[in-house]
Amino acid sequence: MKLFADYHTHTKYSDGQGTPAQNIDAASKRGLKEVALTDHGPGSIGIGVAKPETFITIKEEAVALASLFPDIKVLVGAEAAVISRDGSIDLPSSIIKQLDLLIVGHHPYYIPENLKEALFYTLPNLGLRFSRNLQEKMRNANTKAIIETIHIYPVDIISHPDLMLPVDINELTRACTKMETALEINTGHNYNKEEIVHAAARWGAKLVINSDAHSPKNVGEFTSGLALVKRLRFPVEMIINAL
Ligand SMILES: [Zn+2]
Ligand SMILES: [Zn+2]
Repeated sequence: MKLFADYHTHTKYSDGQGTPAQNIDAASKRGLKEVALTDHGPGSIGIGVAKPETFITIKEEAVALASLFPDIKVLVGAEAAVISRDGSIDLPSSIIKQLDLLIVGHHPYYIPENLKEALFYTLPNLGLRFSRNLQEKMRNANTKAIIETIHIYPVDIISHPDLMLPVDINELTRACTKMETALEINTGHNYNKEEIVHAAARWGAKLVINSDAHSPKNVGEFTSGLALVKRLRFPVEMIINAL
């Protein structure tokens, strides 16, 4: 099995170290045919882009770079955060419309949609380690929220499911199958991803193996993800960036 694309990389415009050109160059040197620049949305505290329009700037930069890298297709997308229980994300639809790819994931630190969401959603998710009951309650709320998200927005990929905030993997996977959203095997974070592969196989959902590179040297670094799907014998044709 060979992966031809890395659909999740960060640049200096959010919390990555490389410029768009450096990420594209790294992907091209790895022999990839496609790479996506997917910086964090503006609502992510401390790690997001300065403002929604930054994605337009990145797009212009990617277009200008295209002639320098004729062998690779560059997509400009975003990794947006879920900011409310009803599935809102930290990007306006005017910007989403102009993106080539939309990734959404749960992240704990973001600007809540409003005060009510801060009290009933954002803050409880920050206190999970203090209470088992709260964990259960928030797992349900997080699952419901992100399923709403994939029904409202044209989400291509769910980043690192169940990593930063708990979700019900089976329920989310069933919704992803229905909405044709891919679940990510994220090689940039070390955590248990077996359950995601099992759930995708069980419910017929698509997977994508991404680096989530925050530095050009990690763009296209897929080793652990390839080993995992191979070991669990996950079908190649169900991985959207595999040949
Ligand atoms: Zn993320
Ligand atoms: Zn990321």
